[in-house]
Formats: sequence, structure tokens, C-alpha cells
Amino acid sequence: MRKIICTAAMLAVLCSALAGCSKKGDASVSSEASTTQPAASATTSAAEDETSETAAPEYHQEGFDYMALVNKREPLPEGWEESLETVHMTNSVGDDVEVEKKAYDAYLELKSELEAEGIYVDLDSARRSIAEQQRIMDDFTETYGADYAAKTVAQPGYSEHHTGLALDLYLIIDGKDVVLNEEMIQYPEIWSVIHSKLADHGFILRYPEGKEHITGYGYEPWHIRYIDDVEKAKEITSKGMTFEEYLGIITDGRPAVDCGSSELFSEEELNEAAVQVKCSFADFDRCVLTKLRYAGDEKNNADDLKLAKEYGRNDEYTQVIAFLADFTASENSNRFEAGEYKDYPCWLARTDSDGWEIVIWGGMTE
Ligand SMILES: [Zn+2]
Repeated sequence: MRKIICTAAMLAVLCSALAGCSKKGDASVSSEASTTQPAASATTSAAEDETSETAAPEYHQEGFDYMALVNKREPLPEGWEESLETVHMTNSVGDDVEVEKKAYDAYLELKSELEAEGIYVDLDSARRSIAEQQRIMDDFTETYGADYAAKTVAQPGYSEHHTGLALDLYLIIDGKDVVLNEEMIQYPEIWSVIHSKLADHGFILRYPEGKEHITGYGYEPWHIRYIDDVEKAKEITSKGMTFEEYLGIITDGRPAVDCGSSELFSEEELNEAAVQVKCSFADFDRCVLTKLRYAGDEKNNADDLKLAKEYGRNDEYTQVIAFLADFTASENSNRFEAGEYKDYPCWLARTDSDGWEIVIWGGMTE
């Protein structure tokens, strides 16, 4: 029974929470905490490419397709669960893990290649059914209310883990299981070796660092995706692309992030908050975020904190901040009226023990 412990320094739970990979036995389901976003995103050129999205994807096929895209916007294709063939394995901590057959064979090859270099991994989780996800959602709704559940649990049908092709690895170091996200993240050199071998076995790193505005998830070094095509995996990897970009669903119009100057928060803390905003944006249909600006320390005041507690229904919040976003919403956006938005506020708050989470988009008023 593992728990994800979120520390203010690393977390970003919400992002992943919406998500993908819930750890077994983790009641909070919020799944993978992601890590600190490096300052890189603050220095990228937003200008060079307009992000565009194509509608009506062609890649949804009936039955089984190893290249199927499942993300916060694209559900598991129809008929998938009926055509999925899986195997069960027991990992080093005794959990049963279900994996798509071919993906498991490829994983075993990857694993033995890593072992030859003294790197030991195991499978934390892989396939999770829609029904299982729905049960988690129902439990959360009953216990915490629908708002909180929607904010914390991945929508059933929209987790890549439903495919059986998404694998969460953990590390075994000196014979010890390293399964907590915040511990695993302490071994960047090991992950880098692991990542360098993925493509040879038909895997890609699904949620790369700095791409949360595209994938909707913070960096998850442990979450790999089998696509059953070594050449394509090599191309995706060598070009530093996300799966979404490779499939032409979205291009990388990186939002520029300006953390400004703050006396209260480090750039790292503000970047963690910015990652949340970018992740959340990747979940909005036909909205392209171009700029994100820290609204300033003055927003962290008693009045706004009081409002954040009310809006976020969380009395534990101790800090509140706002980011101002510039973005374009196209027709049929699922979130905003079509138009150009400038300095649109997004409020985030955190408790002493957890990281930033989005409280509300737009104004907060009494
Ligand atoms: Zn995962």
C-alpha cells in the first residue's frame, strides 16, 4: 500500500491528479505528483509558432490500435476493452499488475537490457479499467462531493492507463523498492539511462518535462507508453516530441511564462504554480495559451485568501496567488467564449503541506 506524499517542494498533484496514473492503494488517487518545472519554460519563444489544433481526429479506430491517443480530451476508443489482451504479473512488492500482452513482452526486454547495466526496475501499475476508474470517482464523489472529485480524479475513460499500454515503472536501488514519486525523482541519471533505451523497445516517454501545456501532465519520468513501432518511437524521441505533436493533434506553441519578481515565493515555487495552469489549459478544448504572468505578491492577502477558501472549499489554504493569462479561444471551445483574452486571472492556493492547486479561473468576488 503506497501513498503519494506531497511536499510543497515537489508536488503539483492536481495536474497529475486529473490524471493518468493513480498509484495502487493511494486513496487520494490523485496519482502521480509531478515535479518541479524548471525555469526553461520561462525562457522559450512563444512567438515562433502558433499552436493549432485539428478537429475530428482520424486516429480513433475500431478495435485495437497501438498508436491510439488517449488523453484528457481523447477518450479510450470504442471497443478497446473488448479487444484488449492482457497478462498479469506480480511485482516485487506483491501487487498484481495487468499489462497488454505485447507491451509486457517489450517491457521484459527493456528490463533485461537495463539489468545488464545494473539498473533495476519493476512495474508499479499499468492497465486500469474504466469501471475501476469509475468506482474511484464514485467513492470520491460520495466522500468529498462532486466538485472535489472532478478536480482530483481522472475522468473515467480518459486515462491512458485504460489502454494497457501505459506503464508506470519504479526503481529498485540496492535491493530496495523506490516507489514514491518524490523519491524516484531523486535519480535523474537513472531515468536518463532508462529513457535512452525506451525507443529500441517501442516505448516513448509520455509526459516529458516542459511539455505539460501539450500533454496536460507534469513531468512523469516513470510513465512510459508502448506504441509497438521502434522506428516511430525513435523519431518521436529524437525530435523531442510529445505523442500529441507526433500525431499532429497539436503543435508546440509554448506559452511564455513570466514569474516576475516576488519577495514571497521563489521562482521554483512560482513555476510549480505555472505548471498547474499550463496543465489545466491543455485540458481546455480549442484554447491556446500564449502568455502567463505572475500577478504579484499583493494578491496573497487576507481577503483573497478568504475568498480562495470559499471558492476552493478548503479551509486549510494558507497562501493564494494569481497568474494572468493571455489566450485565444476558438469557436466550440469547451471552456471559454470564442475570442482573444488578455490578463485573464487564474487563482491558485496551497496548504502548508500540499502544493498549488487551481481554485478558480476568472474573478473572485464577495
Ligand atoms: Zn502513469
